[in-house]
Amino acid sequence: IVAASPYEEVMEVTIVGAGLVGCLLACFLARRGHRVILYERRDDPRERGADRGRSINLAVSARGIDALRRLGLDREVLGEAIAMPGRMMHAPDGTLTFQPYSADRGHAIHSIGRADLNRRLLDAATALPGVEVRFGHRLTGLDPRTGDLEFDSGATTVRARVVIGADGARSAVRATLQALPGTDFSQEYLDYGYKELSIPARDGAFAMEPGALHIWPRGRSMMIALPNPDRSFTCTLFWPHDQLAALDDPRRISAHFAEHYADACDLMPDLVPAYQANPVGHLVTVRCSPWHVTTAAMTVGLVGDAAHAIVPFYGQGANCGFQDCVELDRCLDETGDDFPRALELFERRKADTDVIARLALDNFVEMRDKVGSRLFLAGKRAEHALERLLPGRYVSQYELVSFTTTPYAEIERRVARRRRLVAAAGAAVLAMGVTAGLARAARRR
Ligand code: FAD
Repeated sequence: IVAASPYEEVMEVTIVGAGLVGCLLACFLARRGHRVILYERRDDPRERGADRGRSINLAVSARGIDALRRLGLDREVLGEAIAMPGRMMHAPDGTLTFQPYSADRGHAIHSIGRADLNRRLLDAATALPGVEVRFGHRLTGLDPRTGDLEFDSGATTVRARVVIGADGARSAVRATLQALPGTDFSQEYLDYGYKELSIPARDGAFAMEPGALHIWPRGRSMMIALPNPDRSFTCTLFWPHDQLAALDDPRRISAHFAEHYADACDLMPDLVPAYQANPVGHLVTVRCSPWHVTTAAMTVGLVGDAAHAIVPFYGQGANCGFQDCVELDRCLDETGDDFPRALELFERRKADTDVIARLALDNFVEMRDKVGSRLFLAGKRAEHALERLLPGRYVSQYELVSFTTTPYAEIERRVARRRRLVAAAGAAVLAMGVTAGLARAARRR
């Protein structure tokens, strides 16, 4: 229902942010028969190139694929993706070691271009009846008492009953909730930043093995590379901000890469100009509670990075945001599409997103420090052997996170239970050894 100016009375659902999660949520809501209007600050990405500075590609795994499958989009998206069944570790001397992610050789994470995925999801959403996207609309204000939303484009004011913020880690919708009494909020920046670089195709072919996520673990720093359909690789260098900034002239850049990333350096003809031109990205964990508020005028909720931005080291941010859409859809089922109640119910997901935020931070240490060590690789081999020996009874944490849709909090409980059992078994074996030793000593006396 459209009212006379200056207000546009929007019934049904307003989503702020037409990124990955906003578009996918629009598909789920439209499928339920709702009218959805998405407001996006950028111009239509289908009519212009990708933004610099955001990750160019990302790894999609079971949770993301499950959400896409529910909308019949999985085949189309995976058709453009490159399967990565394991990690390829690059030692400083150039030695390569492949470590499969799973005991099941059929399991892989998938490298997908972020911009292509966003375009596909926009196409999917706008093909559904009742979905409209208004580009070039940056939300600048939201008043929960009146339901008014303000945008910077021509001072447009819109009135809405249900608003969902899918506007990313620096969410303007969340800023409104933060201002209300009773909202907890924290953001934790790593002192690490990241810079994207590129390894182009060589003679029309991939310059490295495409079926792997490449890692150069170097202790304080780490570089990863994911393959792209055009046979290039996008590399991401993670390093403390001051160190990234200290490489401030071509000589230093070349010398550093020649020393620490020699094999990659040989494959990067544009290393110096790319390093100098590409922006440094920030890595933040956002925690906010509650994710919703209901007033007499409106209900506001948050999904995706707006609710729970996490660091990228488990490759789960978008996967987790996609799973949010599945969970919110379930909450709407349970409440008969009563949005205030559904968004209240959706808060149960916070237990899961808190866990993946922690696991993602822990995984950074594993990726930059441990994956290169023989002990770590032997541990992974032993873990996969156990998985084959006890199928379904021993499942590694990585397997549960990346290749199942098991709630993250349940994974944490399961892994903690297993560690307690292993510790108890170890303590029992030790105690038996000590008792036997003491008995032998007593007999000798
Ligand atoms: P976003 O993608 O940030 O989209 C938000 C949208 O809202 C944007 O379109 C933005 O323009 C719009 N917007 C913002 N503010 C406003 C406003 N005021 N008004 C209107 N519109 C607005 N995840 C994975 O699953 N796997 C990976 O391998 C992976 N790798 C990553 C690597 C890096 C280096 C980084 C930084 C992240 C990675 N992620 C990965 C995380 C993933 O990118 C995010 O979790 C995901 O993009 C979140 O989607 P979103 O739609 O919630 O937010």
